[in-house]
Amino acid sequence: MYIADKKRYEAMPYRHVGNSGLKLPVISLGLWHNFGDVDNYENQKNIILKAFDSGITHFDLANNYGPPAGSAEINFGRIMKEYLLPYRDELIISTKAGYYMWEGPYGEWGSKKSIIASCNQSLKRMGLDYVDIFYHHRPDPNTPLEETAHALDLLVRQGKALYIGISNYSAEQTEAISKIFKELKTPFIIHQPKYNMFERSIEAGLTDVLKKEKIGAITFSPLAQGLLTDRYLNGIPEDSRAGRSSSPFLQPENVETTLEVVKQLNEIAKNRGQSLAQMALAWNLRDETITSVLIGASKVEQLENNLETLNNLTFSEEELNQIDTILNN
Ligand code: NDP
Repeated sequence: MYIADKKRYEAMPYRHVGNSGLKLPVISLGLWHNFGDVDNYENQKNIILKAFDSGITHFDLANNYGPPAGSAEINFGRIMKEYLLPYRDELIISTKAGYYMWEGPYGEWGSKKSIIASCNQSLKRMGLDYVDIFYHHRPDPNTPLEETAHALDLLVRQGKALYIGISNYSAEQTEAISKIFKELKTPFIIHQPKYNMFERSIEAGLTDVLKKEKIGAITFSPLAQGLLTDRYLNGIPEDSRAGRSSSPFLQPENVETTLEVVKQLNEIAKNRGQSLAQMALAWNLRDETITSVLIGASKVEQLENNLETLNNLTFSEEELNQIDTILNN
């Protein structure tokens, strides 16, 4: 029988999501990679339980995470059933709909039909009767925003989701859907954008909208899928995301084109007494609009390393300038 670590709430800071009452840990764990049926179940369980034992109360999923699609939710549901159900009220579990999930015209995007069906499927796979946050995973150019917003609002009214989020929406799209949610009085509290040292486009508008609307952000791929770590400093390991054929999302070319910059950033991290991963996460959290960084991990040791970020979250102006100079060269 699993008993959670009694000290689990001692080190982790929690930030409010926008102006909502909900708090999230500054580090959350995502199950996009490493939790499918192609991955070892024992390792998945060890990562999740280590996370919870360390104050990570938030686990992020989506209908299509695997591979195969859906298997991450099934595996997470099994871990819930075997270990974490007694702790359900200490957990924030999120899932999403929007990317391709099943055949035919209703298996993706943002129609009411698609969103409601997808949420029902996700709850079934995870063995839950509600999720804490339900996201629309990407904007749908061919469905009226009102329809998508109404479908998400309905999930809250049905008790299937407590809060609503959006992901991959631009600044303009975020403002537009936020207006509809306000009229509906939907608890729309969070945006999930990509943000890391290599991908800073949210700084050009989205973060301003989030500040103005008092919406929180949880940033995905804060380590640029592993590029902003020491993972590739001495070549491409076979078991890494760039080395594994089961992941088409990170390629050896991505490693080659960033390696020189990564080496320079690694020197700054060393001077701060941190690993590069820790510096990349702390950098992401320097703006209070960022409620939480949403990391991935393929090993317990990576998670442990990332948790040590909490020992140094501050930057001097000089360090931030040095980082900008390296990134702008
Ligand atoms: P990261 O940028 O944190 O990359 C995680 C990967 O980096 C790990 O799998 C591991 O790679 C490597 N890594 C992590 N920590 C370390 C360490 N300390 N030292 C060395 N290597 C390390 O995030 P992800 O790209 O995995 O995304 C995180 C989450 O964000 C997802 O699980 C998902 O929940 C969400 N997401 C949402 C999207 C959306 O559209 N809304 C899109 C993408 C992600 P390796 O496997 O090589 O060991």
